[in-house]
Amino acid sequence: MPGGLCEVGPAGANCQNVPQMITITFDDAINNNNIDLYEEIFNRQRKNPNGCEIKATFFVSHKYTNYSSVQYMHQNGHEIAAHSITHNDDEGFWSEATVDDWAKEMAGCRLIVDKFANITDNSVVGLRAPYLRVGGNNQFTMMEEQAFLYDSSITAPLQNPPLWPYTMYFRMPHRCHGSLQNCPTRSHAVWEMVMNELDRREDPTVDEDLPGCAMVDSCSNILSGDQFYNFLTHNFYRHYDQNRAPLGLFFHAAWLKNNPEFLDAFLYWVDEILTDHPDVYFVTMTQVIQWIQNPTDTGGAKNFEPWKEKCAEAPRPPCLAPSMCKLATKELPGEALHLHTCVRCPNNYPWLNDPTGDGFI
Ligand code: ZN
Repeated sequence: MPGGLCEVGPAGANCQNVPQMITITFDDAINNNNIDLYEEIFNRQRKNPNGCEIKATFFVSHKYTNYSSVQYMHQNGHEIAAHSITHNDDEGFWSEATVDDWAKEMAGCRLIVDKFANITDNSVVGLRAPYLRVGGNNQFTMMEEQAFLYDSSITAPLQNPPLWPYTMYFRMPHRCHGSLQNCPTRSHAVWEMVMNELDRREDPTVDEDLPGCAMVDSCSNILSGDQFYNFLTHNFYRHYDQNRAPLGLFFHAAWLKNNPEFLDAFLYWVDEILTDHPDVYFVTMTQVIQWIQNPTDTGGAKNFEPWKEKCAEAPRPPCLAPSMCKLATKELPGEALHLHTCVRCPNNYPWLNDPTGDGFI
């Protein structure tokens, strides 16, 4: 059962023995605008209690992505997941897209990532819908057909205790944000790495009506580093002192890049957590699923094999001379596009109908 050890006994009874998992995610293209930020956060000094470097999950959209940087992040043990080829800015598109649209966008994105970031271990298994516009049964049917393991797009309203990830075999354990999210109504063999809304209230005893926020950058009332630090601490203990559901911290790089005060507060908080709590692990989405499928207590967590993969990699570039490909595609007439990769340049810019770039449109 999701929740593992913690839900075996009376409510909350055994939670102190459950390692607290924290999932940091970043969405959208990985490129020169943000790779330095990722280097600063994942700087090889920040280690989980098992001695391995802290890890994160990157939901990568194709346009503007630098695949030699993706290869580098993957080589260092971070998880790469799919966030579409086009990131179509017509938000309604995602709510209404067909099974085939979803397959082209997400299986296509995975194919591009695998090929141009030279990922050969079948580790791209998750996806997140752009704008969190969940695509209902069509999205989840595609995920089963294309063998995706998990979605991380569905938001759960702020609640105590927060939710553990669940599978779509059964009814969703919370209400759907129906106006924005088209939640599936049928059973699907897919994990939902649910996005628990975070509590943004400065004073949880007073401000009663403030709704939660799923992406950290949508918590619009955070205005200073101190406020952000308090927000992180409050939400951490909301998980740690209750049922130890994984704490999800979902970012866009720009929010941290544009607000150095927030980045400082975040790094201070991460370092403090790692120093003060020998039972807290920053892990990837897939590592959370691996724990739920084979839970260990805090003692066992130190030697939990799936959390020791790519434990602490020696830094080295993915290739000495990346190809900088100047490309075009008939699907985007008139656009000159660039693709950085450690593998050979394709003939065309990869896109929906030609994800390999080989030109068979
Ligand atoms: Zn996005």
